[in-house]
Amino acid sequence: MSETQAPTSSSSLDAKPKPLADLQTLVSLCKRRGFIFQSSEIYGGLNSCWDYGPLGADFKFNVKMSWWKAMTRRADIVGLDAAILMHPMVWKASGHVDGFSDPLCDCKSCKTRFRQDTAPQKDGKTICPNCESKDVTEPRNFNLMFKTHMGPVEDASNVVYLRPETAQGIFVNFENVQTSTRKKIPFGIAQIGKSFRNEITPGNFIFRTREFEQMEMQYFVKPGTDMDWFEKWKESRLQHYAALGFSKEKLRFKEHGPGELAHYARAAFDVQYEFPFGWQELEGIHNRGDFDLSQHAKFSGKKIEYFDEAAKEKFVPYVIETAVGCDRLVLAILCNAYNEESVGAEGDNDSRIVMRFKPSLAPIQVACLPLSKKPELQSVASKIRDDLAQDFRADYDEAASIGKRYRRQDEVGTPFCLTVDFETQNDQKVTVRHRDTMAQDRVDMTQLAQYLNEKFKTF
Ligand code: ATP
Repeated sequence: MSETQAPTSSSSLDAKPKPLADLQTLVSLCKRRGFIFQSSEIYGGLNSCWDYGPLGADFKFNVKMSWWKAMTRRADIVGLDAAILMHPMVWKASGHVDGFSDPLCDCKSCKTRFRQDTAPQKDGKTICPNCESKDVTEPRNFNLMFKTHMGPVEDASNVVYLRPETAQGIFVNFENVQTSTRKKIPFGIAQIGKSFRNEITPGNFIFRTREFEQMEMQYFVKPGTDMDWFEKWKESRLQHYAALGFSKEKLRFKEHGPGELAHYARAAFDVQYEFPFGWQELEGIHNRGDFDLSQHAKFSGKKIEYFDEAAKEKFVPYVIETAVGCDRLVLAILCNAYNEESVGAEGDNDSRIVMRFKPSLAPIQVACLPLSKKPELQSVASKIRDDLAQDFRADYDEAASIGKRYRRQDEVGTPFCLTVDFETQNDQKVTVRHRDTMAQDRVDMTQLAQYLNEKFKTF
């Protein structure tokens, strides 16, 4: 297609798009298009640390917002933003100082360090996941919390931890939140924030890292109603994933058996997603009983109870927790959205990569493209961009042929492209090109914001 010719009809799409075959393809796309870069790359990188680039930062923010809205727009959930550094007693009470560890083994042959509980076994013995040697050390417990010192003196009395989960900030603030908001049980507290775990074997891109962001919600209920709420939250979280565009076939629940339950849990299910490297945990849904509030009451010496005015009774609430890693969810959405497909008439290439993000999550919602680099087209397209940028994440691109620019936008999941062409001067209309179908509409320039708003509502 020539640069000066606007495509007018919808183009043919291959009936069978190809999903993501391997993680490396996605890692390359993320780097190429500015979603995710290796941390400190110019120094050779820092293992398992990643930086979100311009598109990635917007995308991750949108993922967080969709979770935050799903939680805090409910009348029974409020938000919190607690500090990363907490009193060291918090981690004594929660069990993390004594128990938050993984069994660590060293391979005597190739010197690989690995987690014994996830390593392969042969004839009842653990073998090295790297070289398959049986010559490995006995497992020893390795605490996953990062330690640092508060203040100028580095001694044992100044040790503080980088939080390994955000949940404890919620538990220790339970009374502050309840009394300041006067929420009645059942109610929840939601929080998004960084957590740190000195994982023995991080990997699979942003799936398991040592610094990551969690989105956790603790829902406080009356004992005895906990299993009902547990079931309701399982259902509600599945609905959220469906709204994010996940199909049922790619998600499943995995129940923790009695031997797998964490020390605090009365019941636990993982929501698993089928990543290109297999089924893996995306989110944990736990019934934590009264473990955390009781422990903090015991260690702080302060009563943590709820007074039910109607029933005139006091009790320690039980907690249903939903905990998902934001970075892990970002990875799942990227994997899920990725498609390669053959295309017919449109553009210079006969295939395209398209990220089928839910439009509200797309880092760019609308791209404004002058058909050619003629000043009269450029000025109209860039004015449309500036106007739309009040309400939408809008981009402007004038480099390369229109077909190539559509491909570039497809690859970052932009749901709509607006092309200003030579007809625009006569009819005051632009071509709106749809990402998924590649169909095109002509829309009056004055109606664009309204048109897009309508589309975003239903799409
Ligand atoms: P795993 O078994 O994968 O180590 P976990 O069961 O210890 O995870 P939780 O403590 O339940 O995980 O944390 C809740 C969520 O936080 C997980 O479902 C995951 O999405 C996320 N998460 C946990 N550890 C990491 C990590 N190292 N990197 C990225 N996300 C993580």
